[in-house]
Amino acid sequence: MAVMKFVPEALKNLFKPPVTTSYPFEPAVYPERARGHISIDIDDCIGCGMCVRACPLGALKVDKNAGTWEIDRFDCVVCGYCAEKCPKKCLHVNPGYQTPEREKEGVLYKKSEEALKAEAEKKAEAARKAAEAKAAMEAKKKAEEAAKAEE
Ligand code: SF4
Ligand code: SF4
Repeated sequence: MAVMKFVPEALKNLFKPPVTTSYPFEPAVYPERARGHISIDIDDCIGCGMCVRACPLGALKVDKNAGTWEIDRFDCVVCGYCAEKCPKKCLHVNPGYQTPEREKEGVLYKKSEEALKAEAEKKAEAARKAAEAKAAMEAKKKAEEAAKAEE
């Protein structure tokens, strides 16, 4: 009888641990390379917009001045192109899934106050150095012109 062929298999499985898990009572275990969702280390983002240009779905928005990065998770297909292109490697493809959203709107990430302050200080320092270099160039030019006029 054909059914007798399955009996040994059924008996074997009776003594094996279950292959199912008790999710949601236990955390879900995802395969290592599963494409679940994109995450960002927002304080490392420099607002270059490379990810926005790489995204084939137009799911991303970046505002460099405001220090924000936004993703529309309804549009994102987790292809990972944005993470590949990010020069700061601050985007990651994670295996787990996000909590489902009810509204079709982007999720906004904003830099911390400390990161914004550090960036502003860096900009101010760069501007100060550029002004100093410009002033030094002008002084040198004037000195050269004065020396020429004396000849
Ligand atoms: S994973 Fe793909 S679809 Fe999702 S935001 Fe990045 S580039 Fe766009
Ligand atoms: S590519 Fe990376 S550093 Fe550039 S805006 Fe996107 S997340 Fe930020």
